[in-house]
Amino acid sequence: MVLIVNKPGTNRWNGKKRSASEFNEIARKIFAPVYPVVARQAVECCGFDRGFCIDAGCGPGHLAIALAGISGFTIDALDMSLDMLACAEENIRGAGFNGRIRTVHGDVQDLPYDDCSVDLVVSRGSVFFWNAPDRAFAEIYRVIKPGGRTFIGGGFGTPELKASITAKMRSSDLSFEENIRGNLSTEKEMELVNCLENARVPDFETVRDAAGFWIVMRK
Ligand code: SAM
Repeated sequence: MVLIVNKPGTNRWNGKKRSASEFNEIARKIFAPVYPVVARQAVECCGFDRGFCIDAGCGPGHLAIALAGISGFTIDALDMSLDMLACAEENIRGAGFNGRIRTVHGDVQDLPYDDCSVDLVVSRGSVFFWNAPDRAFAEIYRVIKPGGRTFIGGGFGTPELKASITAKMRSSDLSFEENIRGNLSTEKEMELVNCLENARVPDFETVRDAAGFWIVMRK
């Protein structure tokens, strides 16, 4: 249960200003096929499918829902936007996962979890909006357990999905393609690697595919 204390607002989720419910609609109608693919990639990459997971910057919760559908994780869907969490609550209830996924209002740069308490942190399309990624990376590394993993970045699952989503978004958001190109660029990846080094994360790699890239930390 999330208490709504602020008025619905708009934010720049991807270049264009959108409300949480507008983003949710786009996620449901256009991005929907991406989440199950990314969820599977996360499970394959981390090598386990049980334990406690955080979806950091979950938005309307679609990745958390997809992950719950293919794994035994108990999941906290965490976001700093109460409007996004209200959408997530509704989607999680609709998918029948309210017993396995909890919504949490929080900032990834100041995580409300004990040291070494989390098995997996997943995050899709949120890292590009973090004010201080180095602080967030230090926090994430602090909370994962020994043996824990992360799957943090941006991606569309497959090149085909990326192409079809880009084509669909073109009609409503002229800046979408350019923003995606910037977010998924080698320059952005290097910038984030620099932040990981500043955060003194000792063991990480970036995994790049034709539809995005992911930061995999190991502890
Ligand atoms: N992960 C979702 C998805 O793929 O559909 C949502 C992506 S949306 C583009 C980015 C999300 O990151 C927003 O819901 C925003 O509120 C959240 N966010 C940005 N900065 C954050 C922070 N510091 N802590 C927690 N959430 C954050």
